[in-house]
Amino acid sequence: MIYLDHNATTPVRPEVREAMWPYLGEEFGNPSSRHGPGRRAREAVERARGQIARLLACDPAEIHFTSGGTEADNWALRGTSASSQGSVVVSSVEHHAVLHAAGELARAGREVVVLPVDGAGRVDPERVLEASEGAAVVSLILANNETGTIQPVAGIGAVLRQRGVPFHVDAVQAFGKIPTRVDDLEADLVSLSAHKINGPKGVGALYVRSGTSLEPWQVGGGHEHGLRAGTENVAAIVGFGAAAAIRREEMASQERRHGRLRDRLESALRERIGDVVVHGHRVHRLSNTLNLSFRGVEAEAILVGLDLEGICASSGSACTEGAADPSHVLLAMGVEPRLAAGAVRFSLGWGNDEAGIDRVVEVLPAIVARLRDLSVF
Ligand SMILES: *Cc1c(COP(=O)(O)O)cnc(C)c1O
Repeated sequence: MIYLDHNATTPVRPEVREAMWPYLGEEFGNPSSRHGPGRRAREAVERARGQIARLLACDPAEIHFTSGGTEADNWALRGTSASSQGSVVVSSVEHHAVLHAAGELARAGREVVVLPVDGAGRVDPERVLEASEGAAVVSLILANNETGTIQPVAGIGAVLRQRGVPFHVDAVQAFGKIPTRVDDLEADLVSLSAHKINGPKGVGALYVRSGTSLEPWQVGGGHEHGLRAGTENVAAIVGFGAAAAIRREEMASQERRHGRLRDRLESALRERIGDVVVHGHRVHRLSNTLNLSFRGVEAEAILVGLDLEGICASSGSACTEGAADPSHVLLAMGVEPRLAAGAVRFSLGWGNDEAGIDRVVEVLPAIVARLRDLSVF
């Protein structure tokens, strides 16, 4: 199998699994208990918090564990809106976790401003600032999961801080791939998820800058600084920490390695297949992501053809898989609906190599040619 769908999810690395094992076995203590097993579980959770904080260059006390990126996104939007009447400002290329959370707030009567993006999928920082006057929160995705496009966030947070508007950054797809120091992002809230960086599914975090006003997500026993009650998912949190520590070591080298492989794939496909359109920013783009359309061909048909060859790719957002609608991200970028319906995403990660990339280059031109022969347009 050649797995090229790392923006949907990633395999758990063996080192991560090894780190988690004890907490699924003999180390079963509740981190809130005062006895030995409890204290050891607490130490493990706090070590993981420190490992994640190091990648954000923040105080570990500002990290709050959640059930994943979706919960972190929902919490950031709802938790800031609870204490302010202001509008919610988002971009049109956000993940559905943000867009649908904003939609819920809109149904409850909140003003929601959805900002346009340019053809490469980037917002205009000036328009973000214009819209942010008196807002309850501004939320931007740092790196897009479908196209890899990276938003120009620099300079936005500093102005928002002067205005007292909290700035949320969905860094789920960027964390561990590109630098995400919170002071460089000038973010007050940052969403993270473990399973996009070779950690386990069902665990993530929300960074909350100290001093940011945020309602608790759920109440109960006072866990996570009283903001997100519930006994911690110790094994998953330990795995998240281990995955973050590995990324910290390998981020720069993997970014270069994935960039070389991605560029090899992109140029070979462009060379061998006519009428290819690459979506996303050419420079400000995650080095592991390639999103492209082959004019006149449906993505689903290509994916079936690739799957038969043991190659896993995606038609964009895995969360809308099964729905035939073209990607909201590509439509927001002005891609015509028919072309957007043909978009295929290859996202690279740990375990990919040149042989796998070359295999795609070997089989895809024939798949596209066959489908174009059958095509009615
Ligand atoms: C995957 C993803 C999420 C959701 O994270 P989960 O942990 O799967 O809930 C949110 N935002 C972005 C950009 C993502 O890629």
